[in-house]
Amino acid sequence: MSMCEACSDRMPAVASGQSEWSVAERDHLAGCRDCAAEWKLVSAAAALGRSVAVDPGVIGPRLLERVRAAEHQERRRRWLRRSAQVVGLAAAAALFLMMVPRRGNGPVRQVPVTAASEAADLQLAELDGAAPAELQAVLAEFDEPEVPASALDGPDVEGLDVSQVERALRSWEES
Ligand SMILES: [Zn+2]
Repeated sequence: MSMCEACSDRMPAVASGQSEWSVAERDHLAGCRDCAAEWKLVSAAAALGRSVAVDPGVIGPRLLERVRAAEHQERRRRWLRRSAQVVGLAAAAALFLMMVPRRGNGPVRQVPVTAASEAADLQLAELDGAAPAELQAVLAEFDEPEVPASALDGPDVEGLDVSQVERALRSWEES
């Protein structure tokens, strides 16, 4: 058995603390690159198996990094939820304005508040996790109704309103 093989065979015992290198083995490890590399691996693997071998100087920063990343994500999520609430209110307001007659000579029609607030609730659910640019896109959808204001005078005002909301939500889901 060569010295390399002898060292290799003894590595697990030495790594686990059951044995110690002899002077000859130590000398060989100091001079043999192959054995030195193997010993590095075996001793590192043995260290991983012992909890006391965990280096807090190495583990600590990584753990902190993860915690910080998680906090950042949570802050971002909170911000987006707040934005979604604002957009929900803006959407409700936009729908409200669309329902108000542009030319004020007719009697004021009843505003479908239920539809508007339902739309806002839907928006809240849909927009969680959205990017600001996408929020803008949804706002633009409500700012520029494709239906002319005169069409709102028809009897199916509520139906029209809901289809518009659905279209906005659909375009939202597809983006
Ligand atoms: Zn060797």
